[in-house]
Amino acid sequence: MSITDNKRVLVTGGAGFLGSHLCKRLLGDGAEVICLDNFYTGQKRNIMHMMNDPMFTILEHDITVPINLQVDEIYNLACPASPPHYQYDPIHTMKTSVMGIIHMLGLTKRVNGKIMHASTSEVYGDPEIHPQSESYWGHVNPNGYRACYDEGKRSAETICFDYKRMHDLQVKIVRIFNTYGPNMHPEDGRVVSNFIVQALKNEPITIYGDGLQTRSFCYADDLIEGFVRMMSKDNFCGPVNLGNPGEFTVRELAEMILDITGSKSQLIEKPLPSDDPKHRKPDITLAKQELDWVPVVPLEEGLKRTIKYFDELLGADSIPAKPRR
Ligand code: NAD
Ligand code: UDP
Repeated sequence: MSITDNKRVLVTGGAGFLGSHLCKRLLGDGAEVICLDNFYTGQKRNIMHMMNDPMFTILEHDITVPINLQVDEIYNLACPASPPHYQYDPIHTMKTSVMGIIHMLGLTKRVNGKIMHASTSEVYGDPEIHPQSESYWGHVNPNGYRACYDEGKRSAETICFDYKRMHDLQVKIVRIFNTYGPNMHPEDGRVVSNFIVQALKNEPITIYGDGLQTRSFCYADDLIEGFVRMMSKDNFCGPVNLGNPGEFTVRELAEMILDITGSKSQLIEKPLPSDDPKHRKPDITLAKQELDWVPVVPLEEGLKRTIKYFDELLGADSIPAKPRR
């Protein structure tokens, strides 16, 4: 019997990039899964293959509105994650982060269940320490363009801890660092999907700024393993960093994608968005200690799998990816 057998699990944001991988994993582990989504950035094609599974239910709903369900566990992933998408309607992003988690915590309390909330490395803002460990309180501009997301996620962490302290709720917080993989939207706007789509279409690769800013990229399967371990770990609420500590400049990422695809795209520079963090790299000591978790998919391998996904998705419009070496 697996750890999730016979459980009813709610995944908010279940039609999104990470949510769809999580739904699939939980179904595979024997859980009954309710995928809740308002389809703001989520896609039906991410969850189509699960639709005929009697253990899978899709609920079109917005978590800014309360909902009553009977579930054992909740993974709260609902929130646009790409900067252009969360900045498109910043007020709704803030409502999703704050009102959404309040509704989900209320539901958790009512069913006496367990909740894992998807927080983010953005709570560290443009960090002054490197790498970032959970004890760092962050360096966030509270009224800039990214604040609707950063401060929304920080407030969500606050209210999670207040519910835990006031109601002894089983709350878990993971801070996710840049994650990529199949099921990302081709127009998502984040760096990995942008560069792959541009490379496959032989269009210019848009480097924002000088491209020397760094990020650490985690493959989706690795992250989902971390989620499941976190949910099943007793007496540990986090927050815990989940991400791949390998650190790359944006320019290095572009060159790796050009190399794998064999694309002839040129690199062009575009203005750096405001408050764009200069460096980011997770310290995952706590995840290793508490969850026995480390990411295992190297960036090049993860990119090859992601390029294959986009290549098939874009079909005739794209150049074929170079054969696997
Ligand atoms: P995504 O945009 O692909 O998925 C988000 C999903 O939430 C979408 O299906 C969207 O339609 C849904 N959604 C948005 N607002 C909603 C609302 N009000 N009610 C119901 N559904 C709503 O993004 P993702 O990369 O899968 O991110 C999932 C979660 O992980 C988010 O909470 C995000 O903040 C967090 N996260 C992701 C990353 C990453 O690198 N992928 C990094 C840090 C944090
Ligand atoms: N970026 C870029 N070109 C793009 C998209 C993003 O150079 O087409 C840069 C962006 O400025 C940032 C990094 O890539 O420095 C990661 O951006 P992303 O939006 O993926 O996530 P972030 O970590 O900023 O939330």
